[in-house]
Amino acid sequence: MLQKTQIALACRSIGCDVRENAIMAEYTSFHIGGYADLLVTADSNDKVQRIKKLCAENNVPLMLIGNGSNLLVSDNGIRGVVLKLDGRFSNPEIQNGVIICHAGLPLKSLCRFARDNGLSGLEFAYGIPGTVGGAVYMNAGAYCGQISNVINWAEAVYPDGEVYRVQAEDMKLGYRHSVFMENRCFITSAAFRLKPDESHVIGQRMDEFMRLRRDKQPLEYPSAGSFFKRPKGYFAGALIEGSGLKGCRVGGAQVSEKHAGFIINLGGATSNDVLKLADQVINKVFCDHGVRLQPEVCFVG
Ligand SMILES: Cc1cc2nc3c(=O)[nH]c(=O)nc-3n(C[C@H](O)[C@H](O)[C@H](O)COP(=O)(O)OP(=O)(O)OC[C@H]3O[C@@H](n4cnc5c(N)ncnc54)[C@H](O)[C@@H]3O)c2cc1C
Repeated sequence: MLQKTQIALACRSIGCDVRENAIMAEYTSFHIGGYADLLVTADSNDKVQRIKKLCAENNVPLMLIGNGSNLLVSDNGIRGVVLKLDGRFSNPEIQNGVIICHAGLPLKSLCRFARDNGLSGLEFAYGIPGTVGGAVYMNAGAYCGQISNVINWAEAVYPDGEVYRVQAEDMKLGYRHSVFMENRCFITSAAFRLKPDESHVIGQRMDEFMRLRRDKQPLEYPSAGSFFKRPKGYFAGALIEGSGLKGCRVGGAQVSEKHAGFIINLGGATSNDVLKLADQVINKVFCDHGVRLQPEVCFVG
């Protein structure tokens, strides 16, 4: 079995950027998280496949991240390899009215590309700070839109190391759920079927959604977005506010004063602070309203 430095060498030899003892707080929108043994950045299917194979052969734990905008990483960090998909420099393509892009592409870049090409349907996603792959995995959504309305297919590296194409109808897309949560595949590309519209009208809708976000969300603080899923028939933020928890703090973690559905990092918050605060919120909301909140944020490490 290869040791950490040998795994790092092997990853570098196939052209990946590798950081040893990478501080995960630098790779998450929460700015929280201890060291990952190795943080490897890959920009192609081939590299993803080779790293997956390398880790499997050497019994090294492997997890994939996109932009780290829906993650709470433990203060103890992550053992093994964290693979970060980087599609910042990839160019989406249009084939027969369908946009095809790299899963590591920032969602924002995809939305701008769609707008510039007069294709509508992704405006809702403009302010979501993740990658395309993370958005498909989470079936991200906002303002009555969600990925399931526009996704056509995605390609993913399966546990057997091969790349397969999955059609939208086979993705089991539901509220913040996809089949990729069940099969631990790594999404490498995705295709979106959109509708023609005028670029400036699409742009106006994107700007309006962005304005709503700035007005309602505590974007000035690190967070992972809405911390809890929306319970059926309720809004998590309204329940939390109704329980008088706005501004409630544990260490550096706080229930946002601006939007009670967000837990924010006031500075120096640990993952334990966030978990303790989330527990308090869950218990109080359950006592007051009989509704058990479920986290939307993925805990890692
Ligand atoms: C300020 C703010 C606002 C937000 N607003 C919204 C919103 O309006 N709507 C919404 O739905 N979310 C929102 N989010 C949450 C987050 O941006 C989304 O969930 C986003 O889709 C996560 O993408 P990511 O690339 O950052 O994924 P990460 O956070 O890196 O990863 C999240 C999960 O996805 C998995 N994953 C990531 N990429 C892949 C891939 N290529 N293949 C397989 N699995 C993968 C990871 O393993 C992990 O389990 C917000 C977050 C913030 C900080």
